[in-house]
Amino acid sequence: MPTSLVTGGAGFLGSHLCDRLLADGHRVICVDNLDTGTLENIEHIRSGDFVFMEHDMTRHLEIAEPLDEVFHLASPASPIDYLRLPLHTLKVGSYGTHNALGLAKKHRARFLLASTSEVYGDPQVHPQREDYWGHVNPIGPRGVYDEAKRYAEALTMAYHRQQGVDTHIVRIFNTYGPRMRPKDGRAIPTFLRQAGEGTPLTVFGDGSQTRSFCFVTDLIEGLVRLIRSDEHDPVNIGNPEEYTILQLAEAVRDATGSPSEIVYEALPQDDPTVRQPDITRARAILGWEPTIGLADGLRMTIEGTVSRTGAASRG
Ligand code: NAD
Ligand code: UDP
Repeated sequence: MPTSLVTGGAGFLGSHLCDRLLADGHRVICVDNLDTGTLENIEHIRSGDFVFMEHDMTRHLEIAEPLDEVFHLASPASPIDYLRLPLHTLKVGSYGTHNALGLAKKHRARFLLASTSEVYGDPQVHPQREDYWGHVNPIGPRGVYDEAKRYAEALTMAYHRQQGVDTHIVRIFNTYGPRMRPKDGRAIPTFLRQAGEGTPLTVFGDGSQTRSFCFVTDLIEGLVRLIRSDEHDPVNIGNPEEYTILQLAEAVRDATGSPSEIVYEALPQDDPTVRQPDITRARAILGWEPTIGLADGLRMTIEGTVSRTGAASRG
């Protein structure tokens, strides 16, 4: 039975990845310091093949048993989290990634870095292809996250080139689904919470900035295919359907039937103007593309389900 280590495994994406790996017949070691993740995200897992370790990835970690795969997801991910934890975000992207890569090297395991579309910053090309180097403000408030991930990508390529580690880099575009924290500050859980409470949906700026939203199960499929591929250069995984944030707020109102009004608040500093993945490489290399559109994905997020047939996401 293969063994996979998932750092950040009690978080939103990490917990769905643990579910998927267990369903594939893997033993799963989930490492998390519970900074932004919760035990609730993994409490439904009853498998004897699942181990939870509460550990901070910025501190040295040894695993005695053999590992086949290391998925490194540990990092604050929502802007409100990394703005609250700026030094920690830089540390987990740097020491934390060294630590995870060291484990992959020692165990001769495949390694996957959860990087981000934020490496493109406020992009000057559209849509974003992997060969675009980005437009990041290193000293702005988002710099702690963007530069940590850019460093982590450089580090991952160095372990691959110099140490021969079998590394993979995924650039994840905005992903959503069940288990996002209602107060994590990201647009979809915020709008869903506000719609549910009947309070105004807070659109930042004039709402003309764009994002492209991927449902969580599509994203997880891409991660699993990538770590088992021979591709070492970064690959975008995201849903290329692009929406303005105002359109997103309207889609949430439609999905919930909420009477909430839309109000406009100040745009945060360095908020990217546009974002849309070019997924030509994912299609060609992995045969991957998203299968779930925004209306279906929002419905499943509201219901707390992850499949078209409505299978329960927990328990
Ligand atoms: P999340 O906050 O739900 O999950 C992150 C997890 O990492 C949490 O469980 C947190 O407790 C854990 N963690 C943080 N620092 C840690 C440390 N030092 N040691 C151990 N665990 C630690 O966020 P998410 O959306 O699930 O994001 C997971 C990963 O995917 C992150 O690396 C993020 O940068 C990346 N990503 C996510 C998105 C998205 O849209 N969800 C987009 C781009 C990139
Ligand atoms: N946003 C918004 N209202 C909110 C939360 C976010 O208008 O209550 C906007 C935010 O300014 C950004 C977009 O929605 O333009 C996506 O924000 P999110 O935090 O989800 O992710 P980002 O892509 O910025 O990391």
